[in-house]
Amino acid sequence: MQINGRSSICGLIGNPVEHTLSPMIHNTLAEKLGHNLVYVPFLVEKESLKEAVTGAYALHIQGMNITVPYKSTVIEMLSEIDALAGKIGAVNTLVRTQNGYKGYNTDMTGLYRAMGAENIRLAGERVILLGAGGAARAVAFMCVHYGAEKVYLLNRTLEKAKTVAAEVNVALQTDAVTALRTEDYWTLQGNSYLAIQGTNVGLYPNTEETVITEEDFYRKIDTGYDLIYRPEKTMFMRLVEKAGGKAYNGLRMLLYQALEAYELWNRAEISEELAAEIYELLKKEMNTDE
Ligand code: NAP
Repeated sequence: MQINGRSSICGLIGNPVEHTLSPMIHNTLAEKLGHNLVYVPFLVEKESLKEAVTGAYALHIQGMNITVPYKSTVIEMLSEIDALAGKIGAVNTLVRTQNGYKGYNTDMTGLYRAMGAENIRLAGERVILLGAGGAARAVAFMCVHYGAEKVYLLNRTLEKAKTVAAEVNVALQTDAVTALRTEDYWTLQGNSYLAIQGTNVGLYPNTEETVITEEDFYRKIDTGYDLIYRPEKTMFMRLVEKAGGKAYNGLRMLLYQALEAYELWNRAEISEELAAEIYELLKKEMNTDE
């Protein structure tokens, strides 16, 4: 790629940023689509976040991804926020406008699209969501936003699950989200649940761990979706499959949040063929060839 006076710059703000796969995804997209765009990681310290966002705007940076730990704190530095991202209270994508940056949450629209690519529907579903941290909170919003009938939020710390459930129910004017202590999963009636694993238990290198080990839990699950993508097949996924369900990891979520950001920055539409091509590159990059 030839960087020249017309190149537009996009990037990632976070801390740490050294293990990010985003530059690989975005620079490959730019190359494949023939866009004169370059994407770079920016390590930003907490006390410099405001300066970094103001400086990025002054430097005419077209778009930014925002990652841990700034997805919520960056909101006060925006000129505008997308409605769903505003309700979630977290943004991962900034798009340059005439007055400043507008914030979006493509983690969630990306997860929704990633699920769609696997024919997983949310409308009318009963969802078990493991975890009540930043990711699970956003997933709870997304599930209700896209029409899930019920979301059972299971967490080790019940108080956190209760707080998240109340926040989602109030913001979306619903009573769809119910908080439970993880070990009370057995109170859930019936089976055919969509279960989304949103804790960091099972993340590499702790690949033999999962929050619930009992087989009767996994018999309730029709489809399991782990937000973790390292390892490629988590213990949660293995147990879902052992009980006869289908299981997916979070790599497509990672891919689609990036594709959605790229589309917002470039007013482009990325074909499913190109998405599939990048997905294969991502798997190779992670040494996870299936
Ligand atoms: P977080 O805010 O730190 O939340 C961690 C959650 O895990 C909390 O609910 C916590 O429960 C629970 N937890 C941690 N250790 C536990 C243990 N030993 N036993 C039981 N529960 C435990 O983390 P996050 O930002 O939400 O991220 C969660 C996961 O999502 C990470 O693995 C991350 O890699 C993944 N993720 C993937 C993508 C993607 O693109 N695929 C995007 C975002 C996040 P307590 O409340 O009881 O502490």
